[in-house]
This record gives sequence, C-alpha cells and structure tokens, in this order.
Amino acid sequence: MSFFIVEPMRIGILGVQGAVSEHVGAFERAFSDMGVRGTVDIVRNANHIHQIDALVIPGGESSTISRIMDTLNLRKEILSRIEQGIPVMGTCAGAVLLASEGDEAVRRSGTKLLGSVEVSVKRNAFGGQRESFESNMNIKGIAEGFHAVFIRAPSMELLPSSRARVLATFEDKLVGVEQNNILSFSFHPELTRDPRIHRYFLEKLL
Ligand code: GLN
Repeated sequence: MSFFIVEPMRIGILGVQGAVSEHVGAFERAFSDMGVRGTVDIVRNANHIHQIDALVIPGGESSTISRIMDTLNLRKEILSRIEQGIPVMGTCAGAVLLASEGDEAVRRSGTKLLGSVEVSVKRNAFGGQRESFESNMNIKGIAEGFHAVFIRAPSMELLPSSRARVLATFEDKLVGVEQNNILSFSFHPELTRDPRIHRYFLEKLL
C-alpha cells in the first residue's frame, strides 16, 4: 500500500512594489474554488524564491520593480526558477518585465527585462492613467467573457519565430500570451472576483 502526502501549493507573489495583495486574495479564492490546499506568500528575498512552487510578477511600475529586483539581488534567483520551469504569471508591469524586448519607453527608463517571453512590449500602449478601461474578453482555452481591467497597460508583439501562444487580443493588440510555463497578461486578472485565470495557473501545479 502506498500513501501520497499532498503538500499545500506554495505560491509566491513578488512583493517589491505594486498590486501585490490583490493577487493574494485572488489565489485564496481560487484555492477554495478548486478545493486544494495552498499558501500565498509575498516574496522579497532570495531564500523565499527558492521555497515557492509558482511565482507571480504583479502590476506596478516595471522600471521600479526592475530596479528593486537588482537592489535585493533577486534577478538571478527569479531567472533560475523560471528556467527550472516553475509556473510564472506576469500581469501588466509583470508582463513588461518578462518580455525579451521593449520599446523606446522601456529603454529610456533603464528597465532591464527578464527576457523570458519571446515578445516585444510597448509600455502604456493604450495611453496613461486616464485611458484606463475595462473590457470583456475571450482568453483562449481559459475563459470566455472575462472582465479585464487595463491600467496604463502594455501591449505585446510576437517576435519572429516566437514560441509564445496568443491567448488574448484587444483591438488587434496582443494582451495575453502563454509560453511554456509562463503566462503574461497586459491587464489585471486579480482585480476582479473571477478566479478563472488564477485557477488555470494553479492547475499547472496539479
Ligand atoms: N505602465 C506600467 C509599466 O509599464 C504598468 C502599469 C500597471 O502595472 N498597471 O510599468
């Protein structure tokens, strides 16, 4: 006879700046929805990053997150976990940071990208704070009619021979992709009470 001890899933939200606590709430709802045990921790140091099963890079200010990531010596650890293939989700500024290439605005701000998703990003592609908007979208294979909140959102473009798969577009602009273990969204799935994207992400750990 054999026993399986199912450990709780340990999700880490990179907590150096930005929309962190909203993701914690979204995962807690997704855990209870799925009937799985899990913990959500805010990660701010290298040890933390080695203890998690999945990582979220939240929205905020990509240039600031990039800078603090280096001040706290987190970049190498994050890259090594991404390369190990743990599930990673970037939302808004997080999607900017995960991209391989950025536009002039990314370069001007001195932001160093992680370079993990084969897309080029354009910061604030839909305008500034006053052009924030919400829209119901289809996220391929994940959710129909998902209420997406865009706040100074970036857009993405697939690079030549990119392995990223398109999940969502808005007005011909790419706003959601998946590349292997990584999900990248221009909008904020944590700001609605709809758990479908967070559930999809957690299902990668089952
Ligand atoms: N415009 C911000 C940036 O490029 C992202 C905004 C957000 O995360 N809501 O960093």
